Order: sequence, then C-alpha cells, then structure tokens
Amino acid sequence: MEDAFDAIVVGAGLAGCIAAYVLAKEGAEVLVIERGNYAGSKNMTGGRLYGHSLEKVIPGFAKEAPIERKITKEKVTFMTDDTGVTLDYHNGRDQSTIEESYTLLRGEFDQWLMEKAEEMGAQFISGIRVDEVIKKDGKVVGVMADGDELFANAVILAEGVNPVLGEKLGMVQPKVEADVMAVGAKELIELPENVIRDRFNVEGDEGCAWLFAGSPANGLMGGGFLYTNKTTISLGVVCGLHDIEHSSKTVPQMLEDFKNHALIKPLIEGGKLLEYSGHVVPEAGIHMVPKLVDDGVLITGDAAGFCLNIGYTVRGMDLAIASGEAAALAVLKAREANDFSAAGLNTYQDLLNDSFIMKDLNLYKGLPDFMQNPRIFNQYPKMVADIMQSMFTVDGSASQPLRKTIMKHCKEVGYMNLIKDGFKGVAAI
Ligand SMILES: Cc1cc2nc3c(=O)[nH]c(=O)nc-3n(C[C@H](O)[C@H](O)[C@H](O)COP(=O)(O)OP(=O)(O)OC[C@H]3O[C@@H](n4cnc5c(N)ncnc54)[C@H](O)[C@@H]3O)c2cc1C
Repeated sequence: MEDAFDAIVVGAGLAGCIAAYVLAKEGAEVLVIERGNYAGSKNMTGGRLYGHSLEKVIPGFAKEAPIERKITKEKVTFMTDDTGVTLDYHNGRDQSTIEESYTLLRGEFDQWLMEKAEEMGAQFISGIRVDEVIKKDGKVVGVMADGDELFANAVILAEGVNPVLGEKLGMVQPKVEADVMAVGAKELIELPENVIRDRFNVEGDEGCAWLFAGSPANGLMGGGFLYTNKTTISLGVVCGLHDIEHSSKTVPQMLEDFKNHALIKPLIEGGKLLEYSGHVVPEAGIHMVPKLVDDGVLITGDAAGFCLNIGYTVRGMDLAIASGEAAALAVLKAREANDFSAAGLNTYQDLLNDSFIMKDLNLYKGLPDFMQNPRIFNQYPKMVADIMQSMFTVDGSASQPLRKTIMKHCKEVGYMNLIKDGFKGVAAI
C-alpha cells in the first residue's frame, strides 16, 4: 500500500514503546499513537519491574533509565485489622542484571522509553485516541484517529487492559465477568530520601518491595502493596471484583484504612500526597488470552491479558515488554516476506509459545481459581496472627506445648480445609 507505515502501534505503554523501539531500530517505518498527553501519562502500576525482558532489548538500561531503586528487600505481611506478621528477606547477594528488579514511576519511565524509540526513528503522536481500526477485504490496513485515516501493513494493538479496538475486531471477548478483573488504587506519597532509608532500613539506591495479604483488601482476593522510590512511596491496594458486591468497604475506603493501619501509619507519617490513581488489573491469566494475531493485526501486553497475579506479586510489565518485542519481531519477519496475513504474522504466536510468557501463564493456569478461595485472604492471615499472639503472650497461666497452641488455631480453620487448600495451592503453583 502506498504511503503506508510498516506498522502503527496503538498505545505508548511499555508494550507499545518496546514494539516501536525494536521496529525502528531495524529501520522499519513505525508510528505510535497515544491518547494521553505523553507516554506514561495514563499508565499505572504498583511499581516493580522485573528487568530481564528489558535488559534483553536494551542491555544495561538501568544505568540510564529513570528507575527509582533496585529492590534488595522483600517483605510479605499477613495482616488483620490490628495485627501484622511479616516475613522479611534481605538479598545482599550479587545478582546479574538480568535478575535484578527495580521500582519505577510510569510517567517518567514510559516517556524515557518512548524517547529511546524516537531516537531510533519511530514517529510519535500523543493526545490523540485511535477510534477505529480500518479493514479492507477482511484485513486490517490502518487506523482512524482524530478523523484521519492512517495506513500500515500491520497494526499492533498495545492499548492496555481495556482493549476496545481488539473487542471491535472480535479478537478479544468483552470482559463482562467481574471475576476476571481486579481493581487497584494507589497513592504516591512524598518523603525525604533519608527518611525513606531510615524507615525501610535500606541503603543508597536500594529499595523495598512489600506485599500484604488479608485486611487491606477487606478479606477479599487481593492485598496491599508498598514500594519505596527515591523520594516517594507507592502505596496501594488491589481487590478482585468477583465478590466486591459483598464487601463492606469501597476500594478507596480499603486504601484509607490500610494507610491508617498501625503498621503503615508510622511509615508514611509526615508524607505529602502527590498523586492518586486507580486502574483495572487483568486477573484470569491464560484464561483471558484472546486471539493474538489476525490479518494485519497483533495484540500485546495487558490488551492480550498478559498479566500474572501470583498472590505475592503482580507481574505485567515484564510480560508487556517481552510481548511488545515479540510482536515487533513478527512484523519484521512478515516485512521480509512481504506477507502481513495472519499466517505471515504468526511468528508472534510461535515466539510467545517459546517464551516465558506462555510458559508462565500455563504454569499458573490454576491460580486464578485457587485465589478465589476466601480463606486465603481472610482466615489464614488471622490464623497466623493468632498463633503468633499465643506464642508471645505470657499471662501467668500454665503454658501449653507449642504444638497444641498451633493445632488449636489450625482447628479453627479446619484441618480438612488446611489439607485441601495446601494441596490445591501446591498444585496451582
Ligand atoms: C494496581 C496495579 C499494580 C500493578 N503492579 C505491578 C507491578 O508491581 N509489577 C508489574 O510488572 N506489573 C504490575 N501491574 C501490571 C502492569 O502495570 C501492566 O501489566 C502494564 O502496565 C501493562 O502495560 P501495557 O503497555 O500493556 O499497557 P498500559 O501500560 O496500560 O498502556 C496502554 C496504553 O495505551 C493507551 N491507549 C489505550 N487505548 C488507546 C487508543 N484507543 N488510542 C491511543 N492510545 C490508547 C493508553 O493511554 C496507555 O498509555 C500492576 C497493575 C495495577 C493496575
């Protein structure tokens, strides 16, 4: 087609920016269209990037990218309204750059990534929404944005968790079922750098990733998160929507109560609220992966359901990056063969099948179902807290053997439930 780009990318999140970077680096003509005013302006994340997939595309990226802190401290807390039992892991070992993970803020990070793509020759238009995908003879040939028709041999849909265009094409099933979605609310709280170091016991540019199960999501599927940035804290809750109508609290109220928990309040004391954001998280893993390729079109990142909630962590950014790269490589291969049909672009599916993305999504395919078990977020955090309280309470009465104390609290949840959930949990991971 005359005056056509090799590819048009819809959305300048991580998936879209990387697709553009990889394409432009190989000399392809690529245009990225982003509805926000700049890359990252509409994007939200908890805050932790596992660096491996970006390291593969841009080796040594952490030296120049606006990352916040390298994570060396991991904490997981089982929380009830008035207790917290925390597992604290400090990793002082040397890691290769491929193993490292970082906290980041998307507003800065995505802009940097888009600038890298532009340096390679990608064209970028922001502040404009793509309204339609143009089809000719059954094949996608371009997009309609702001009343203009723009043509390309391939369109990469990197539109995030609400893939309206993918749905219009009939590739993505409309997500009417609440049990495939969670909602996240997050605050960015400013604190002096030395205060963050002191309160979280981290040195220099090291940082802490802290996850909370139990009361933050009001006992529903989900939990709280806290990530340390250079001079801010990312603090939020994620809550599954499948049972939200039975919740006694709204999600903003959950976040408010989480902030006021005795374990959290002193950590953010004196902090200044800089930003409040809310966003949806795809939760169903492999079960919500749509048709990924069709004639002239590919779907990447959250739009393709490439997000993993493994209970103790949400991972979507490294999957968005790897799938953006795979989509770009497939377009480059199709360009060589001058075949942008579904068959010509199908290298994308092959690359994904061979990558950690499909393997991990398959590995954790039982997890979304397992996580809908209310005991995990409700009774088990309480059980752990009760055991700890019994262990550390001395009131003058004769002590019980520890074994008896533990069994007493396990009995409250039910031995059969514990065995059943234990087996199911192991099978799910
Ligand atoms: C609360 C929360 C916590 C999370 N925590 C983590 C975490 O700690 N670690 C992790 O790895 N992942 C985490 N995730 C998941 C992660 O943020 C996402 O998986 C990731 O952002 C997906 O990137 P993406 O590029 O696919 O989509 P997005 O980043 O959503 O980008 C999509 C882009 O497309 C644009 N767009 C959409 N439609 C159009 C259109 N029609 N025209 C033009 N532009 C359009 C949007 O404006 C946006 O910029 C979290 C998510 C949430 C909500």
